Amino acid sequence: MNETSTSPAHERTNLIGMDRAELACQLVAMGEPEKGAKLRAKQLWHWIYHHGVADFSEMTTLNGPLRETLAERFTLARPDVAREQRSEDGTRKWLLRFEDGQEAESVFIPEEDRGALCLSSQVGCTLTCKFCHTGTQRLVRNLGAREIVSQFLVARDSYDEWPTPQDGRMISNIVMMGMGEPLFNYDNVAKAIQIAMDPEGFSISRRRITLSTAGVAPMIERCGAELGVNLAISLHAVEDDLRDEIMPINRKYPLAQLLEACRRYPRASNARRITFEYVMLKGVNDSPADAKALVQLIAGIPAKINLIPFNAWPGAPYECSSPEAIDQFAAIVNKAGYSAPVRAPRGRDILAACGQLRSESVKARRSGQPSKPRPAPAPQAAIS
Ligand code: SAH
Repeated sequence: MNETSTSPAHERTNLIGMDRAELACQLVAMGEPEKGAKLRAKQLWHWIYHHGVADFSEMTTLNGPLRETLAERFTLARPDVAREQRSEDGTRKWLLRFEDGQEAESVFIPEEDRGALCLSSQVGCTLTCKFCHTGTQRLVRNLGAREIVSQFLVARDSYDEWPTPQDGRMISNIVMMGMGEPLFNYDNVAKAIQIAMDPEGFSISRRRITLSTAGVAPMIERCGAELGVNLAISLHAVEDDLRDEIMPINRKYPLAQLLEACRRYPRASNARRITFEYVMLKGVNDSPADAKALVQLIAGIPAKINLIPFNAWPGAPYECSSPEAIDQFAAIVNKAGYSAPVRAPRGRDILAACGQLRSESVKARRSGQPSKPRPAPAPQAAIS
């Protein structure tokens, strides 16, 4: 940023993550007449989320004195990129450091002419799913709406995809599949998604946004009604005993309750099917009997199954199923009429694949060291 202001960035209010009403409030507090504040807020919004500018001097529809006052009081600073990694398959991963030194990762998974950006909702995760690397890191905290929106800005900055292109976007989809459980941080996630969906900003349609949950059943319906995004469920087991063991959240919201919430998911239809993610764990959940039970379990729900080969991480207690077991599993699910693509692992070389994300900042803190930039964890993503 080359703002001409004299006050240090931390003394200025960061406007990223604010909606129009909040921007208008800031303007009024700054002395703008209430009458014009709404229009000004709209203009500000457009510069922040459509043009992606980080410098108030570029906001040419605002008059010079106003731009100067804005620069004195506010900032549009992004979090520090503590590390950016690029996989040999084109996947990019950013480790972002927020103002309090905590870190989270986002991952971009490019396809030929589009791609999915996988965003984190929390620093760490409380779920402790046995197969997930992030689960070995204790939750440090929820990410704020600003921190979630900032992940998007950083990715767009990296591809210089500003102003928001009408078509042919590289960053075309968003998946809430990074670190954390988005439905445990619903308010901030919802606010960030609302901003992302706004047609005068990032303009990512709800059809191109997928929220993945380990199964916070009571929040699922609300998510559907308020956001209307695509839903993905991390299923991974078809019986409560096993699911209790590998995904402790199942003890709170068992399969019957989870599936009931899916049946009631607003807007689920054949055109908007619910994705069931299923990680393939050798000898644990990958038998033909499991595949048959899966098909029965989801009967009646407009669904597709996403089979995810298990991605290993240091000390992981599981192995990935054999390609034959995965094929056999997929064939049974296919035969029952469900599409069951096997998710190609992306970004494994930079630990950017599903379930590989983990920030090292927590480790450093535990041992009494201050948090510092180090190789960190990665998330996963898929374009639905
Ligand atoms: N908490 C949310 C969002 C995380 S999404 C959720 O659970 O859905 C991350 C996805 O990667 C989930 O489907 C998760 O179960 C899966 N995953 C976790 N660890 C994995 C691993 N080691 N290999 C493959 N997939 C994994």
